[in-house]
Amino acid sequence: NKRLVCIPGPTPVARCIQDQMARETVAFGDPDFVRDYKQLIEDLKSIFDCDGEAFPLAGTGTLAMEMAIANNTKSGDNVLIVSHGYFGDRFIDLCERKGLHVDIIGCEWGTVVSPAEIEKKLSEKEYSAITVTHVDTATGVAAPIKEIGDVVKKFENTIFIVDGVCATAAEEEYMGNMGIDVLLTGSQKAFGVAPGLFLVMASKKSLERRASLGRIPEFYCDYEKWLPVMENPAKYFATPAINLIWAMKESVEMIKREGVQNRYDRHKKNARAMQAAVESLGLKVLAEKEHRAVTLSNIIYMDGVDDAQFRNILMEEGIIVAGGLAAYAGKMFRLGHMGNIDTHDMVSTVATIERALHRVGKHDDMGKAVGVLMSELMK
Ligand code: PMP
Repeated sequence: NKRLVCIPGPTPVARCIQDQMARETVAFGDPDFVRDYKQLIEDLKSIFDCDGEAFPLAGTGTLAMEMAIANNTKSGDNVLIVSHGYFGDRFIDLCERKGLHVDIIGCEWGTVVSPAEIEKKLSEKEYSAITVTHVDTATGVAAPIKEIGDVVKKFENTIFIVDGVCATAAEEEYMGNMGIDVLLTGSQKAFGVAPGLFLVMASKKSLERRASLGRIPEFYCDYEKWLPVMENPAKYFATPAINLIWAMKESVEMIKREGVQNRYDRHKKNARAMQAAVESLGLKVLAEKEHRAVTLSNIIYMDGVDDAQFRNILMEEGIIVAGGLAAYAGKMFRLGHMGNIDTHDMVSTVATIERALHRVGKHDDMGKAVGVLMSELMK
């Protein structure tokens, strides 16, 4: 039977995007491909209000995190890591390996670090960069990026790095307006492209920082190696993932047709409807109400549900969700609702959750959550 991928990435890939991956592969210097790559770069800069450069390259979100740190810091610098969970923490090891001094502000999973606390910390010493994960996929919490950006703007020498892997193209992100210096993401989440590409968007300030660093230890992810290619994709540094670039371009065409702000609004509406629907079943959403992501929901079971059994039933019924991480392993499931999913997908996901809960003896009033979902969506 058909399996709908509802984990928080990879997300379902629309037919027209799949078709781009099936195209006959051409030379990277092919004039049509060069034009398409250039168009993609220009569109990304315009959609996300980036005054510097966009680097859509082969690799995953983790490599994008590495690229962000590599081009904006040097060994011995201080970096402030704001962590709302597992993926925020990923920057710690990454930075420590590069000889950076790391300070961490964390909080209880499901809550957010306040911008005031960040401001206090930034005032204590000079940080060359601060990292914030827009949506930590482990908690389903969305950080208040605009408010944090307003704080970071006061610190001229600090580069604001935002991990948008589980956010970009779904959560509102305008680099200029929000003071973001580096925005990074992967192809497999809200862009709805297969895994394999990452995207780093660097502001003018971040490009200037890179220029001030001289030669950096990293090779593949050095901005300066790629800048000439982004300017003119007929040039070679390392072979672009041609079919994935086309797939990403198709995704961006879809975003342009929808309108990026409409896309943000759609995600918000869908997420709130999904969250109300699962709550009507007696399930709990981990994230505090005012800080919930629009890209996924991390849903805590009521007592007496066996995680493995429940997720197996969901799989039998055609929906794949992810398990909880760290302390929440076995206690919750993570449900992605980002990218190019539609109302059909959502209704069927909620109906499937109802059937699975019924099969584990926790739900009788069939159709209740579907009703809530649909009335929220019709508002
Ligand atoms: N950051 C966040 C917020 C993520 O959700 C993920 C992946 N789940 C990553 C970074 C790492 O991305 P990738 O798996 O593509 O390397």
